Amino acid sequence: MTEQKFTEQISTVAKFIQIYCDNNHAKAQKSNANLELIYKNTSLNQSVNYNLCKECEHLLLYANERLQNCPHDEKPKCRKCPHICYEKSELKFMVKVMRSSGIKLGLSKIKSLFQR
Ligand SMILES: [Zn+2]
Repeated sequence: MTEQKFTEQISTVAKFIQIYCDNNHAKAQKSNANLELIYKNTSLNQSVNYNLCKECEHLLLYANERLQNCPHDEKPKCRKCPHICYEKSELKFMVKVMRSSGIKLGLSKIKSLFQR
């Protein structure tokens, strides 16, 4: 996976988790922080800002770590990956986040179509 692909992937994941957390954990205590992007032990001089509750922050950091260690050059969709590297509980949570935020994003796209 190229550095650019890595940056893209982790930014997308962060965005999805952020939407999920905003919608589902609005009242939870959140910490605002920057995730510094490091790939293959090299700093990419970029960071992703997030404002997440403990649970979602854990998922993001976990995803980041998994992505850094992804052995695939051409990363398949995680859902279709032959070597799923997530542990069960994290995988379940991630699927939930992706589904929920995906629906939200889909809806806002549809809405913006109608508002034109
Ligand atoms: Zn959350």
